[in-house]
Parts: sequence; structure tokens; C-alpha cells
Amino acid sequence: AGDSKDYDREVASVCPYCGVGCQISFKVKDDKIKYVEGIDGPANENRLCVKGRFGFDYINHPHRLTKPLIRREDAPAKGLNVDPGNLLSHFREASWDEALDFAANGMKGRGREVAGFGSAKCSNEEAYLFQKLIRQGFGHNNVDHCTRLCHASSVAALIENVGSGAVTATFNEIENADVAIAIGCNPIENHPVAATYFKQFTKRGGKLIVMDPRGTGLKRFASHMLQFKAGADVSMLNAIMNVIVEEGLYDTQYIEAFTENWPAMKAHLKGFEPEKMAKVCGIEAEVLRDVARTFAGAKAGMIFWGMGISQHIHGTDNSRCLISLALMTGQVGRPGAGLHPLRGQNNVQGASDAGLIPMFLPDYQSVTDDGVRSAFTDVWKSGDFSSEKGLTVVEIMDAIHADKIKSMYILGENPAMSDPDVDHARDALAKLDHLVVQDIFLTETANYADVILPSSAWYEKTGTVTNTNRQVQMGRAVAPPPGDAREDWWIEVELAKRLGLGWTYTHPSQVFAEMKLNMHSLDNITWERLQGGAVTYPSLSPEDPGQSIVFGDGFPRPEGRARFTPANVIPPDEVPDGEYPFVLITGRQLEHWHTGSMTRRSKVLDAVEPEANCSLHPKTLRELGVAPGEYLRLSTRRGSVTVMARADRAVAENNVFLPFAYVEAAANILTNAALDPYGKIPEFKFSAVRVEKAEAA
Ligand code: SF4
Repeated sequence: AGDSKDYDREVASVCPYCGVGCQISFKVKDDKIKYVEGIDGPANENRLCVKGRFGFDYINHPHRLTKPLIRREDAPAKGLNVDPGNLLSHFREASWDEALDFAANGMKGRGREVAGFGSAKCSNEEAYLFQKLIRQGFGHNNVDHCTRLCHASSVAALIENVGSGAVTATFNEIENADVAIAIGCNPIENHPVAATYFKQFTKRGGKLIVMDPRGTGLKRFASHMLQFKAGADVSMLNAIMNVIVEEGLYDTQYIEAFTENWPAMKAHLKGFEPEKMAKVCGIEAEVLRDVARTFAGAKAGMIFWGMGISQHIHGTDNSRCLISLALMTGQVGRPGAGLHPLRGQNNVQGASDAGLIPMFLPDYQSVTDDGVRSAFTDVWKSGDFSSEKGLTVVEIMDAIHADKIKSMYILGENPAMSDPDVDHARDALAKLDHLVVQDIFLTETANYADVILPSSAWYEKTGTVTNTNRQVQMGRAVAPPPGDAREDWWIEVELAKRLGLGWTYTHPSQVFAEMKLNMHSLDNITWERLQGGAVTYPSLSPEDPGQSIVFGDGFPRPEGRARFTPANVIPPDEVPDGEYPFVLITGRQLEHWHTGSMTRRSKVLDAVEPEANCSLHPKTLRELGVAPGEYLRLSTRRGSVTVMARADRAVAENNVFLPFAYVEAAANILTNAALDPYGKIPEFKFSAVRVEKAEAA
């Protein structure tokens, strides 16, 4: 930090990284961010983590895209082969007019041959415009974004069983709880400011039950640490619920008043006695009983989960179990009680709310409903579009291989790094005959582009953003985009004009006003009001700061009742065997964000974690004859990577944890593209892997 002489203006905005949505004051001099300070936002109360505090300088990196680029006719064959320092070996610079015409002409009139990936890093308005452009411009719903890779299964289960895809209580409500479960999440690394509330909760005596195949940082604060076998979530959760049923610990009054399908749930749980499940999940029966009694005995209990729950082929079943556990104990809709999937990207909640998903229009209104579609086309002043649910992220890659999709518009997503079985995705991108990429850097995906549209980083845009708590906040441009780069909404509007859609927006506030026409979640929330601070949706009046807890008096489902949906045990798609005997778990690290395009170009963050690494239990490393700092070759049925080994007692024996931010050892070369049948989310959290000693790559 510095003193007031260090900057010439201050801008209040929001962090671009995780779904916590910390508010930040940026100290700016000569249009460059000098340093930042946390401010008193509802989700952070002045706190920031290392990414928010030090992770802003990537916007000044020399690799920023500053001119529209068109692939040269004499460029080498498409592949991961462009040097970001020498773009002109593959691309030529173009004017905006030429690049936009080229981008639009490659998509125009191609209907179902076009698909789009939008971004959870953009504003709500930009997400809304993106889904509108695909639906209005091409007449179908093949539009998706990274929610498909993080919480799609959680949203599927929440919509099915409580009638809404968002959290029922803010994470700050843990202040009013006496027991909390954190399962399949690692907030100390992935939602660090939220984790500070968890720690304070334990400091004042709250019981924190941590469940994870890795002994994450929260272990130190836990009253119970259940390091269960990877993939055994449903067995463990059903066993805990079995105890609650068998010992009569459930909340009969709540169940009768607010739920349906309880008899079926009770009957289903009969086969899951803790003694039977202990071996399956690796947790002693007495511990399962103790956890069941502790949670059921809570005055107010919350359940938090992350991608350890969602990224399985049984991800929806995992979430169904957590919802059932909360319902049977009456732990929803009161202070300190609720369900909270910790959302990943800064605006994945908002982008999903804005309809950037193939089965739902804004506010999770189904594309199959004729009345819903006509409400939107009335506002859009355009004809009807398909009532068929669109394809999801991984399905779109398969459709490219099947010659059904030939042209794509990708804004701020990086499927050449983030998709499972990524060589399959990279081959698909290479096969497209027209790929428009809109981004701030030459991402791995942009390597395959026919045209690249240089856009704005989060710090360079104005628009609203919605965090994991349902808090809608105003993001303000801190600095202008570099060179000829433009805000994403402007590029979308210019493309839409060239597709003949007649858009006339000249400011994001006009888009927000249009969103409100068909999004009741935004009732009582206006652009002007957001200038004064965050508003949590739903907000019941222009004065109401918003409801941090919802569903205290029933659910947005038939008869106001939430549903119990029993979940059966489904094994992982691929189980370890003689050839691939270890379990591979992928995830994030504190310092790096997703595919690393921002954090690996941030000096401080990259200095702290400069090299691709994987973690194994020290005993497993000894058995492999490998010392920490030496290298391992990890191989699955999809491919191999070579990566530095670390010893970490938190990782279970015969498991490997591999962060996915490093292109030189891309975790997704190894991962399995098998999908959860409901959320269509891939099984990033479980692959069978072979581990061998190797030389440095
Ligand atoms: Fe940014 Fe999340 Fe860290 Fe807050 S906790 S500073 S939102 S990365």
C-alpha cells in the first residue's frame, strides 16, 4: 500500500476472480492500478485474499491483445502452435470493421451449425446479450458457459428439489449457525474470504464438519474431519441420513409442512446402515453416527459444497443427498440454516441467471415453455426460436466431431484448456471451419481462431455482477482497455448488427433495463440503486437490501413443497485397475485461477506458484522412489503429462491431486469426459491414473 500521493483517483469495483465478490477500492495513477484496498462490501467487510490484493497487473501484460486479428491464409495448420510474442506469424492485423464483418459472415445464415460459449467473467449484461445473440441470431439454444464445468449438477438438483438454482442463504449466515458442513470444497484456497467467516464461526464455538477426500486447510478448524474415499459421497451421505431416520432425529413438523416424497426417502435409506457403508466410504460407523447426531441436533445448520460434490457423474445425486439432509433436519429458511453451493467464477451465478445456458432463458425459465419464449421474443421484437434444449459444453465438442457444428463464437472461455479429455476438444476446435474468439490474451483456444476480437478485462468494464450470495453489485471500469481493445458488450452489439439483429444499445444500463422486463429476480433492483451498493436478490421493495435467507415459508415448487429425491450409489465412470491403479483428482490452487490465463501473467501470483506441480501422500511418493521436487509422469487412457511432485499428507494414499492451471502439464489431457446425466457435468474429480518416476519435461 502507499499513501495518497501514490494515486490520482480511486474507483470502487469488485474483484474479478472468485464468486465471493469482494468489493475493492482501486488506487489508479495514469490509468494504471497502483494498489488496491478491500472495502466494506457485504461479502468481504474490507477483507481480500492474495488474488484480489495482488492479482491485477495481468491487465498490463505485454501479451494483451490490442488489435483485431484475422488468420493469415498462409498460416500453419491450426494447433496449439502460436507464439504469443509473435502473433503475426499466424494472424494479420485488421480494422474493427473488417474483423467484425469477417466474424459475422462466417456465422450468418448457418443456424444450427453455429454454437456459442459465453463467459462467467463478463458482466450480467454481456452474458444476457450473448445468449440473446445466439437465440435470436441463429434460432436455437446451443449456448453454454463454464457453469457446465463447475456447478451445473448442483443447479440441476436445486431446481429439481427446491425450485431455485441459487443459494438459500448467504455464506455470512454461518455467523448465526451452530453447526456447518463443508463438503467437497476447499474455501481456504478457492473462496478465501468466505473461509475467514468459517474460521470465525469455529472460534466462537461453532462445530465445523469437514468432509473431503483431501484433508483441506479447513481440517485445522474442524470438529469432525471425514476424509472419505474419493467417489463414495452418496454412500457416506446416505449412511448419515440413515442414522437420522433410524434414530428418529428428523424434523417431522418441517417435513410435513414443507416437503414431499418423504416416505420414499425413508424407505430408500433403509439399506444404508453405517456399519455397511463404513468400508465403502472409509469412515467408521461411529463417526458417521456422531456426524448425523451433531447435524440433526443443530439449532441452526448450514451445508456448503463445492466442485468436489458437483464434478462427478453422480454430481446431481451428491447434491440431492445434501438437499435431503437439510430438508429432513429442517435446516432451510431460518437464520443460520441453509444450502450454499460455493460458486466458482466471479459472475457464474449472474451469467447463469442471465440465461447463458442451453436449457434455460434468463431466470431459469425453460426454453421448452411456449409462453416463456414468446415473452422474450415480444421484448426482442423477433420471431420464435427452437423449443429444444440446446447442447452443453462437452456435447458441442462432440457435435463438432460429428460435423453438426461448424462455426463457433467463444467469448472469454478457454475450452482448449478447461474441457475434459482436452485433446478431443482441441481437435474439435481445429476442425471448425470458422472460429471467432473474443478475449484479452491469446488463450490456448485463441490459437485455433480464424478471427480474434480483442476485448476488455474485468477491471476495464462497467456492468453488474452477481456473487455466490445472490448479491448484485456494480463493477466499474478502473482503466480503459489497451490499444484498440473494446468492452465485450460493444463487440457483441456490433456483431449482432452485422447479423441483422438491429440492436441499438449504447450503454450496459439499457441492457440491464431490458433484462428486468423478464427477470423477476431483479425486481426492485435498478442500475441507479446499484450505484449506492450491493442489493441481494430477491429484494422485496425499493428499500429492502434483499433477502439473505429464502424459503422460510415454502418453496417455489408445486404446493410450496421441496422434494426428497433418493439417490442410488453409482460408481465412478472409470475405476482404478492394474494398469491405472491411482485416483486422479483435479482442482485449483490459492494463487492460480482456472486455466491460468490471468494469474500466470500476474507477477506476484506467478512468483509464488511458478511451476506445474502435483501432490501425493509422502508414503506413496516413497513407494514410487520419488523425492519431493522430482518429476512424475501421470498417464490415463487419454494421455500423459510430466509434472513436479510435492509431498502432501492431506492427499490420501494412492491419490494424486493435480491443479489445472498449467498448460505445460494440462490436467485435462488426463481427465475423463464422462458426464453426469442430469447436469451434463464431466467427472473432473475422478480418473484412473498410472504414476511413474520421470525426468523433468
Ligand atoms: Fe477476490 Fe475471491 Fe479473493 Fe475475494 S476471496 S479477493 S473475490 S479471489
